[in-house]
Formats: sequence, C-alpha cells, structure tokens
Amino acid sequence: MPTLHWSAPQPNYAKRLIVLGVIITAGFCAVFAAGLWESRTRDLEQARLAASNVIASVSSEIERNLEIYGLSLEAVADGLKLPDIAAIRPELRQRVLFDRAATAKDMGSIFVLDREGTLIYDSRIVAPMPEGHAERDYFNVHRQSPQAGLYVSMPWRAIDGHYIAISRALTDANGAFAGTVVGTMRLSYFENMFRELNLGKPDTITLIRDNGTMIMRWPLERDMIGRSLAGSPVFARIAAHPSGSFTDFGSINGLERLFVFQRVAEYPLIVSYNLATADIYASWWRKAWQFGSLILALCAINLMLVVFLIRALKQRGEAQQRLAVMATTDGLTGLSNRRTFDTALEREWRRAQRNATPLGLLMIDADSFKTYNDQFGHQAGDTALTAIAHCIQGNLRRAADLCARYGGEEFAVLLPGLSTAEAAEHAESIRASVLALRAQQQGRPDSTPTISIGAASMIPRVGLEPRDLIKAADTALYDAKRSGRNRTACTQPLALVVAAA
Ligand code: GH3
Ligand code: MG
Ligand code: MG
Repeated sequence: MPTLHWSAPQPNYAKRLIVLGVIITAGFCAVFAAGLWESRTRDLEQARLAASNVIASVSSEIERNLEIYGLSLEAVADGLKLPDIAAIRPELRQRVLFDRAATAKDMGSIFVLDREGTLIYDSRIVAPMPEGHAERDYFNVHRQSPQAGLYVSMPWRAIDGHYIAISRALTDANGAFAGTVVGTMRLSYFENMFRELNLGKPDTITLIRDNGTMIMRWPLERDMIGRSLAGSPVFARIAAHPSGSFTDFGSINGLERLFVFQRVAEYPLIVSYNLATADIYASWWRKAWQFGSLILALCAINLMLVVFLIRALKQRGEAQQRLAVMATTDGLTGLSNRRTFDTALEREWRRAQRNATPLGLLMIDADSFKTYNDQFGHQAGDTALTAIAHCIQGNLRRAADLCARYGGEEFAVLLPGLSTAEAAEHAESIRASVLALRAQQQGRPDSTPTISIGAASMIPRVGLEPRDLIKAADTALYDAKRSGRNRTACTQPLALVVAAA
C-alpha cells in the first residue's frame, strides 16, 4: 500500500503542559516550604522569648538577693567601724554587728576575717575558733585589691551541702586593707529556685560563674557543681556577650540546644536556659509531616492530572489525525481521494498560471471492469483496483506529482510541469507497470485488468479553467477506449495514440 504522508499541525501542548504542571507543583512546594520555614522560625522565636522571660526573672531575683546580702555585709562593716567594738562584751558585739544582717533560709553565717584571714567574728557563734581562711578566694581577692567591691566566690562543698560566699573588703581609717566580711549562701537556694520553674523534660537551666565554673544546674547533678566549662566552645560563646542566644551542641550531653543566657547585673554570674531543639521543633515536625504528606499527595494528583490530560489530548490529536487522513484519502486504495485531487488541481493550476508552465493530467480507467466484476466478484475487483493504484503510485517521480482515485475504477494523475508528450510518456510507464503485473500473474484467470489512459497538458491561459484540462484528458481517454482499450491517447498538440502491447 502506498504510504500516505499527512501531518496535522502538532501543537507542542505536551511539553507546555508538563512545564505548567511542574511549575504549579513547584509553586505548591515553594509556598508550602516558605510557610513551613516561617512556622519553624516562629516556634524557635517563641521558645527564645519564653526562655528569655524565665532567665530575666531568675536573674533579677538573684540580683535582688545578692543586693540584700551586700547590704547586710555593709551593715556589718559599718558596725566594725564603731569605736571600741573589739573591746565590748561578746554578746553585745554580736547584737551590734549581726542584728541588722538579713537572715533567710539558705543564707549561711556571716563572719569577719582579720587582715591575716583569721576568723574573728561569726554571726552564729559568739566565740568562734580562730580558724584561718587566708587560702580562700573570698579573702585573697580583697587582700590583693581592697577596692574590688562585692565578690561572689567559687563554690565549695561543706558537710551539709554546697556553698558560695559573698564578700567585701574591710578598710581601716587610712583606707588600707583591714580584713574581709563574708556571707555564705547554700546552693540549695538556687536549687529550690530552679526547681520551682518546672522546666520541660529535656531542658536545663544553669548558673555559671563568669570563669566557667558551674554553680548550679537543674535538673540537679551534684557532680556538675564546681566543674569548669571554661574550655567548652559553648561557654566561650556565652561568656562573649552580656546576654543573647544561639543554637549549638551542648558540651555536657551533646544534644543540640538553644542556649538563651543573661549575666546577673554586674555580678560574675550567668544564667543560661538550655532548650533541646528537638523539643522546640517537636510539634513543628508533626505539622510538617502531616501537611507535607498532604502536599505530596496533592502534587502527585496534580502530576497525574497533567499526565492524564496529556494522554487525553494525544488521543484526541491522533483521532483528529485519523479523521483528517480519512477525509483526504481513499479507503480502498490509500491514494488521495477526489476532494484532495480537486484541491491540488486548483492549487497547481494557479501555480502553473503564475509561472506560465504546463500542467499535465492523466485520466486512467480500468478496462471492461464491469465484466471483471461480474466474472470474479466484487472482492477480486477491489484487489485489482488496489493493484492498479500501486502501479500508479509506484510510477510517481517527483514530489509535486499526485495520484488520486477519481471515482469508481478511474484514477487521475496530476503532473505539474509536464507537456502532453511528457505526460503521455509517463502514462506509458504506468501502463507498462500494469502489463508487467499481468505478466507476473500469467495463467491466473483473474489477472489485473488492463488500463486505458487519456493524457493532456495545458498552460493555463486566460479563458481556460481546470475543468478544461479534465475534459481534454477525458476526451483522450474516450479516444483510447474507442481505439480498442489498453492504450494511451492524448489531446492536442500531440495526438499520440499508443497501440496496445
Ligand atoms: P470500460 O472499459 O468502457 O471502462 O468498461 P467498464 O465496464 O470498465 O465501464 P463501466 O462504467 O461500464 O463499469 C464500471 C464498473 O466498475 C462498474 C462498477 O461496478 C465497477 N466499480 C466501480 N467502483 C468499484 C469498486 O470500488 N469496486 C469494484 N469491485 N468495482 C467497482
Ligand atoms: Mg469508467
Ligand atoms: Mg472502465
């Protein structure tokens, strides 16, 4: 069968739809990702704010207590300046020095050390043992610089728990170092304060001295008290600013945490609230999974819709193409149909008119086909027509040549540019093909019938029409039939009649 090359305009819709589908899907994902990121940032910000509020209130409470303690130490220092304080009765001196001192739970004793660091007065014992404190930091710091102000000591462990001391220097009338007044404070004070905060499970809160010494950590781990964090990168970041926050991996258990910290006024103490980021983002992760799977499903549906649409459009395109092929070709032979021929004739006629070139036409008719049908049946007739169509198609030489089934057992061949003689020559090669086919089928009673051909050509001049060309070729065909069939006849100018082979 001749191959029919018909191509409908191919819109690039598949590519465009895929691009559109991908853009929509990517848009979905981008909006979702932006929303998720925004919600993650908000969760972190909320956690940071809540932690900042907690440490601000913890810090101000510690500051207030240290201030009160400082005032108590000042009261003792003032008392020591009274004349003859060393000479008065111990019970009376006890009342003069320590009665104004604040006493509260977790506050230890207030005691006075002389310039050698020997204990001379103690708020809890009227006649204390003269034990030496010269090695202790709360003494040495003031001896070395009497103007150091209020000092918060390193923690130490006593029989009944951990302590820190708050101390200040004593000076004589000349401003020279005269000893130290020291107040002790149980670390259980901080322990109780932190306990009441009811922290989330993985969260920790720490009170650190500015040299990196851990003073208190909640949840309580007594071993941690007094431990130095000075070498840890986390502490380096905490110590670098008076307050702030950052995310890092904890130096104690390696968990990723949000560290929110603040220095306690001018004291060498830092409160740090450490939240596990996994805990901060826990509900965010839940949301991300829920909405993420929903968005994924929507994206999948969207892409499936695109694929479905592409397939539907492709099927429609193929159906349209099939219909277009059906509309322009002959179903039996596969040649162009009469409608296509008419359109081509009009087109080539105009072209030939423009170029003043000849347009050749062959009208081909199967000989005595009625008899053939009657003898061998309609189906054999169809096969014979298809075989003749093959021969005609096989003899087309140029792209512009067109053969069509003109109707019934008649075919037409349009040969742009060919003169009558050239058209007749072409007709003879077609007829020769049919005869060759017959020769192949020798011995078969239903061998393909012969054909008669009318050839014509004309240069479309003013006053001529396409139907004049058809009429000329038809007349020639009639001549060929009348002259005995199986031959080619042509109209003017060359009245060629080729005799039957
Ligand atoms: P002539 O040589 O003078 O052309 O004689 P003819 O018998 O071929 O001419 P006629 O016009 O009398 O008969 C044409 C026949 O072609 C009649 C019709 O049945 C047959 N025919 C037309 N179209 C088809 C077709 O598609 N299939 C078959 N099998 N036969 C067809
Ligand atoms: Mg006929
Ligand atoms: Mg016929």
